[in-house]
Amino acid sequence: MSVYLDYNASTPIDPRVLDVMIEVYRNDPGNADSRTHDFGEQARKVTENARKQIAELLGVTPEEVFFTSGSTESNNIVIQGLKDYAESTGKKHIITTAIEHKSVLNTVKYMESQGFDVDYVSPDLSGRVSAEDVLSRVREDTLLVSIMHVNNETGTIQPVKEIGDALADKDVFFHVDATQSCSKLVDQIRDLHYDMLSMSAHKFRGPQGIGALILRRRNYKLPPVKNVYFGGQQEHGLRPGTTPVALVAGMGKACELAQAEYKEEAIENKAIRDEMLNLLKKEGVRYELNGDPQYCIDSTLNICFDGVSSEALMLSTKQYCAISNGSACTSRSYDPSYVLAAMGIPVEKIESSVRISWGSGVNKRNILDNFKKMLSVIISLAI
Ligand code: PMP
Repeated sequence: MSVYLDYNASTPIDPRVLDVMIEVYRNDPGNADSRTHDFGEQARKVTENARKQIAELLGVTPEEVFFTSGSTESNNIVIQGLKDYAESTGKKHIITTAIEHKSVLNTVKYMESQGFDVDYVSPDLSGRVSAEDVLSRVREDTLLVSIMHVNNETGTIQPVKEIGDALADKDVFFHVDATQSCSKLVDQIRDLHYDMLSMSAHKFRGPQGIGALILRRRNYKLPPVKNVYFGGQQEHGLRPGTTPVALVAGMGKACELAQAEYKEEAIENKAIRDEMLNLLKKEGVRYELNGDPQYCIDSTLNICFDGVSSEALMLSTKQYCAISNGSACTSRSYDPSYVLAAMGIPVEKIESSVRISWGSGVNKRNILDNFKKMLSVIISLAI
């Protein structure tokens, strides 16, 4: 049986999260905004409890947490939602990176079509952008800097701490896409200066279809992000639509578990990574790591297997390991990864590269046995 090693695309739901959700589905049929009966009141209690659990994980206040359907929506709201403010202040310059998720890249592309000027900062071969490069582009009319914390394809940690510190006393909003980091780099996130942050429950053993946008107060004021579509007053009108109470409760529980277990998980993730790297060396396979390992999280390896097509590799080893070559949102296209291309990796190496990602709840022995079997097939494929 194949082992699932595509956690950066989506993680299996934790049974304890599922239990909480089933409870809610069974017992709490109310709408969290109904005021006329106890069912509404109970749904609201469940929702507010989850908001608190998220706030506690991140070290923010519950009033700064807004539920969305996931990071794609959070990223869209945060960028498009600043449009009115930008128009009224004349600040229409955005700085981002060339390796953001498509939900940022395609949103800023849309903003360009609306008269905004966007700077795309490229990383070097390490997979990181330089904080100086980002900061040197800040201008009088810069509205927003949007940088991901951890890249989904390479696992590379971006210098958001340095950038956030430098922007803290500037009149520029700083958005961090923390989709791949919020349950892992918990201490680092609590220590960050940012105005907005995106997160998504299905990346840390919560359900798909729920996430949050964090808006932090500066001098008691929330950033001037407006709703991008219209409806009721849910989430203070920022994200209208009936609150999906069971999903929200599941996300809250996933945050509670992350908070209790992130240190232990980090140790397990690192042990798996170390053993995978040992096996790569021991089995004599020709490979290179994409992204400088000193900046990578311990739950992702992006590996170039010299002389092996990644498509052939994934097909012929799929009975052992479920892996990918690029983010799931772009994997239907056969174009080489834009993230690896932006790092300056040549196309033939990109076409030999795969991403392996894991996380809590995995069976380490099972993973390593299957990884070893995968390597023996790769050796036979190498030209
Ligand atoms: N940003 C990053 C860095 C991601 O990895 C992803 C998911 N692959 C997203 C945003 C989009 O998240 P969601 O699936 O919640 O829309």
